[in-house]
Amino acid sequence: MCSTILEMKSESKPDLTLFKMINNIYFDLDECLIHTEHAPFDEATHYFFTESFGNLHLALHPAANSVISYARDLVGKDNVYILTTSVKEYAAEINSTCCLGFDEDHIFSREDLNARGIEVPTCYDSFRDTLPHETAHIDNVIIDNLEPRENKSKISFIGIDMSYKTNYLKVRGYWGVNFPNDPFETKVKEFLNES
Ligand SMILES: [Mg+2]
Repeated sequence: MCSTILEMKSESKPDLTLFKMINNIYFDLDECLIHTEHAPFDEATHYFFTESFGNLHLALHPAANSVISYARDLVGKDNVYILTTSVKEYAAEINSTCCLGFDEDHIFSREDLNARGIEVPTCYDSFRDTLPHETAHIDNVIIDNLEPRENKSKISFIGIDMSYKTNYLKVRGYWGVNFPNDPFETKVKEFLNES
């Protein structure tokens, strides 16, 4: 009844999470697979215009298509998603402009995250939390440029372990600069193989 956390841990079963399979894979967009700016810049690979956002110049990470294909080969196209805090119209334009090949229902955006937002009361105040999406699963994985602590809504949305031990890959932010020895592609593929 009054066991300490350490005592409770010593009674727990071996951690089998290292051997689990991946369910779904979620890729972040901005500063992960792409970088956009309103003004032209040397590294831009694509351009698009919308009434809502005006001119957008976009750099697609050189390994973006490779890691998306790798993920689809690993778990099937139906289990690979975009998960972005940007609005749906912007994400859909990028998907189309860069030919990333995600179906409309495989792009989760700010609207989807907000639709599952709830206010949780605490002894101090309240905080905004996010309820899990229908695709949430403990064996989902996410690749994102933000630190996990800055990304709690996405973590709740996809239903992964809040300890982030095996299901979260934080990559270096992609700002449209292509480094010759960028470890991004290797790190993503290793992470997907180890998960
Ligand atoms: Mg990002």
